[in-house]
Amino acid sequence: MLSIGITGGIGSGKSTVCRVFRTLGIPVFQADLVARRLQDEDPAIRKSLTGLFGPEIYTENGTLNRKKLAGIIFSDHQELETVNNVVHPAVHKEFNNWKKQMAHYPYVLYEAAILFETGSANTFDYTILVIADENERMERVMKRDQITAEAILMRMKNQMNDAEKILLADYIIENNDNQLIIPQILKLDQILKSK
Ligand code: ATP
Repeated sequence: MLSIGITGGIGSGKSTVCRVFRTLGIPVFQADLVARRLQDEDPAIRKSLTGLFGPEIYTENGTLNRKKLAGIIFSDHQELETVNNVVHPAVHKEFNNWKKQMAHYPYVLYEAAILFETGSANTFDYTILVIADENERMERVMKRDQITAEAILMRMKNQMNDAEKILLADYIIENNDNQLIIPQILKLDQILKSK
């Protein structure tokens, strides 16, 4: 069974692409969702984040104050890296346990907003990159999340740009408005199943 990392910048449509793979029967591990759960629940991660940013990094009801953390990490690259180093090993551990139950599938997807940035891309058999033009990504996210262009730009700045990632990825899915993703996904599914 192959492990495939799939990534793409904010608003590129990686979750949309993963939904299509899921309808083809391919299991998808949503790393960002698991990271969120672990940040709320895992005692070792809570301890590390509290140690780094003080107890007020958690809200009164015990969940991570994501707005506060985003304010810190998206304006300070070093802090972002520190938090990634705390959270990513735990997420990978969960992925490896999850994968054991998926051994009968031809391949599984690990969906994450950052993959090449953390060096974790090397742990997969292949990688898929979803790309779309920056202005389209911006429009989609503004419509989806009701956040400002400035806030989106700040997040984009913390992600590697598409030109750099294209050089590192094994497969590319183009998801601009004028491109159909389903034929690209069906073709890739066939390729991966034949590996
Ligand atoms: P993020 O990293 O921010 O979670 P993402 O890469 O997972 O983003 P999606 O959530 O899949 O991106 O897509 C962003 C928004 O754009 C969603 O509202 C989605 O429905 C929409 N979208 C994705 N692909 C297309 C497309 N080809 N045409 C129009 N809208 C699209």
